[in-house]
Amino acid sequence: MTTHGTTHSHATPVSRALDGLQAVLGERLVLPDAPGFAEAAAVVFTGEPRTPAAVARPGNTAEVAAAVRAARDAGLPVTVRSGGHSYARLGTADGALVIDTRLLADVTIDPAARVASAGGGVSAIAYTQAAAEHGLATGFGDTGGVGVAGLTLGGGVGHLGRRDGLTIDNLVGAEVVLADGSVVRADADENPDLFWALRGGGGGLGVVTRLDLRLHPTATVTGGMLILPATPAALAGALEAVLAGPDEVSAIINVMKAPPMPAIPAELHGTPIVLVLPCWSGEPDRAEAGLAPLRALGPVVDGLAAMPYPALFAGGPDLGPAVPVVGTGFRDVVDEAWAATVIERVVGAPGFAVVNLRPLGGAIARVAPDATAFAHRDRRVMVTAAMPVPEAVAAASPEAVPGARAWLAATEQAIGLGDAGYVNFMGSLTGADLARAYPSATLDRLGTVHAAYDPDGFFAVR
Ligand SMILES: Cc1cc2nc3c(=O)[nH]c(=O)nc-3n(C[C@H](O)[C@H](O)[C@H](O)COP(=O)(O)OP(=O)(O)OC[C@H]3O[C@@H](n4cnc5c(N)ncnc54)[C@H](O)[C@@H]3O)c2cc1C
Repeated sequence: MTTHGTTHSHATPVSRALDGLQAVLGERLVLPDAPGFAEAAAVVFTGEPRTPAAVARPGNTAEVAAAVRAARDAGLPVTVRSGGHSYARLGTADGALVIDTRLLADVTIDPAARVASAGGGVSAIAYTQAAAEHGLATGFGDTGGVGVAGLTLGGGVGHLGRRDGLTIDNLVGAEVVLADGSVVRADADENPDLFWALRGGGGGLGVVTRLDLRLHPTATVTGGMLILPATPAALAGALEAVLAGPDEVSAIINVMKAPPMPAIPAELHGTPIVLVLPCWSGEPDRAEAGLAPLRALGPVVDGLAAMPYPALFAGGPDLGPAVPVVGTGFRDVVDEAWAATVIERVVGAPGFAVVNLRPLGGAIARVAPDATAFAHRDRRVMVTAAMPVPEAVAAASPEAVPGARAWLAATEQAIGLGDAGYVNFMGSLTGADLARAYPSATLDRLGTVHAAYDPDGFFAVR
């Protein structure tokens, strides 16, 4: 075979292993000289170019195991991806074999047991639509294209969190291909230490080929957009309204200059706004009362309506390819003085910037901090500051990305993101980043699990 420019007479361990894998995957092993390689290797965020050695697109667990063994035999580093939304661009790396799990996309719903069994490459929206056919849902984040596996491995913070907990709090088990190619189950009884680490540890332990997740009745919700004036009183009031509300009320709140979206009145475009994206997931007849404290804050646009749960994932600004510049943290004091600083930072940004705020609490806070690898259970508000730089802007102006990074560093300082953060909103995963993602006891325990299940650091590409 001459699949990637070598022949057996000059066969190297890499070419031999990739030839062997190609015998299993056929065209689903995409090599750099194959048509479609750039698309196969692309992830959501851009930045300095990265060229993997090959992209493997296995269609079942046995093929995933074959890809793992091939990478081992070849001495190739491995990266694993599902939805490709990692801010740290973890789904691609120079010279690595990318194991792309997106063909593992089946979803089986057991409505009686209220459990879904999903392939390790399914997207949040595909799973959500399948579950909605039964009036059921598992809470993920706010974006349909995000991979369920990637989101779950970090925690999973979204609209149903205050009611049902983080996504990981609804994980009942997983199937994982380990570094030696073996396939194991991780749940409360089998490999419980691996199960603990999968729930928030950020991945890097194996390839998750299946996730079993608990479902909750969630047919109709009330959501949409509520635009508040960008005042400290409105911002602090919105956060406190959710924190003080029942578990069935949530909101994802963006402080930003209004993007030119059709859903936002043209006269607001470019002006600072507090965009509140609430979700009422309780009984529909209690929605009005549940959302009244937010509506009392004087919205300039009230687009809230009852809708099927999957409709919450529609819309949202599509920025196109962008260089991620993102910072993560938590805040417990979210008073008007702090809210004023948040608004000032957004107004003064040298480009499109957003501070994204997620009131936590409810069921998230009722889980013990050491029960899963996500330990920030008592924090009140998750804060993410971001200034994604569109690829075209980054290419045209060499100052754009450094300018965004300078804005981010000053913003993190000004709004006090603190010494902790959410692993899934990190733009890199250096040792210092991991020390912010995990308290030292959690980090130590994760180290023990990594040493037991991936002693050579085979999946440790960061
Ligand atoms: C626009 C946008 C919105 C977001 N909204 C939310 C939100 O509301 N709530 C929230 O909690 N997070 C949110 N996130 C963060 C998101 O959870 C993380 O970026 C997550 O890592 C993305 O998962 P992915 O599978 O799409 O990414 P990928 O880049 O494919 O993977 C990310 C990480 O997960 C690992 N991984 C992926 N699949 C597997 C697998 N099958 N087996 C083993 N490891 C795997 C990868 O190795 C990598 O380390 C958002 C991100 C973006 C870009």
